[in-house]
Amino acid sequence: MRVVVQNDENGAAVGWRGRGPGRRPRGAVRCGLGLLVAAALASGCVQGGGSDADVRPALGQQQSSSAPPAAGAHAELLGGEKAEKAEEAARVAAARRWGLDRVPLVAPAPPAKKPRITTRDGFEVDDHEELGLPPVFTTIPTKKKIVFLTIDDGAEKDPAFLRMMRDLKIPYSAFLSNYLVKDDYGYFRKMQDTGVVLNNHTLHHPYLPGLSYAEQKREICGMQDVIEKRYGRRPTLFRPPYGNYNQDTLRAAKACGIKYAPLWDEEVFVDHWEYREWDQDLHPGDIVLSHFRGRDDWKGTMPDMVRRFLKKVTDKGYAVARLEDYL
Ligand SMILES: [Zn+2]
Repeated sequence: MRVVVQNDENGAAVGWRGRGPGRRPRGAVRCGLGLLVAAALASGCVQGGGSDADVRPALGQQQSSSAPPAAGAHAELLGGEKAEKAEEAARVAAARRWGLDRVPLVAPAPPAKKPRITTRDGFEVDDHEELGLPPVFTTIPTKKKIVFLTIDDGAEKDPAFLRMMRDLKIPYSAFLSNYLVKDDYGYFRKMQDTGVVLNNHTLHHPYLPGLSYAEQKREICGMQDVIEKRYGRRPTLFRPPYGNYNQDTLRAAKACGIKYAPLWDEEVFVDHWEYREWDQDLHPGDIVLSHFRGRDDWKGTMPDMVRRFLKKVTDKGYAVARLEDYL
């Protein structure tokens, strides 16, 4: 039986000197700040008159229609601009409040047509496609400068983390293991209330390839039941503990209703990053792993981890998007 082993030991390249060129996004931020500080700058930032079809919206600023607005729609347009300015002001204030040097970039709207997700080369199990097993992947195919944040296990339940993510409007996905979350299901209900999808990371976080098919199925289906009972929704995403799985794992996951098995391309800790790829860098569509951990395990807090995550992501011109929107 083949065991696919993931390791995240890939060299702890500490110290991002990321001064990414960040073409459009960097301009977008500066533009947004200009809007706040001096209305005079707005002429350079906002689509004027609605007739110049070549002016592209800044990253994350979706324009609902390409048609030039009629004269009567002028007031509505102004209202929209006002709302946009207010949103930008809120983003700037939140970034300042949480100690970020730069305002996180806003992700573009999710794609109308979802990308086709396939298993990464070398990550297949026997008869992966033939059996229709959930794809195992580390990135989402996209050319957009976005990454996805996924947070595992559930030991640390820091209220400040919930406030920070809600304030900053940073999307992320949780992969929960019951033995760590069961002492406070309410914490993750608050998380769910902010739009976070709670996904499956087994009941007891075992090394799954060491278990029989039946035992693996109990671990995965059991967690499906817990999440459905506590949070009203059966997950379709499952991440095997440690990234270790075999064919039985994916067969069991499929039998439990799982559609996708996302792994990760980078892992962010409170004090460093670890990369899977040789170039030790972020790429469009990368899935980033972190954990619900605090000072018991780390030299810092969840918000400290988020600051490290956002600094690199923003400096390199990436926005954070919601994984489930692309599946
Ligand atoms: Zn885990």
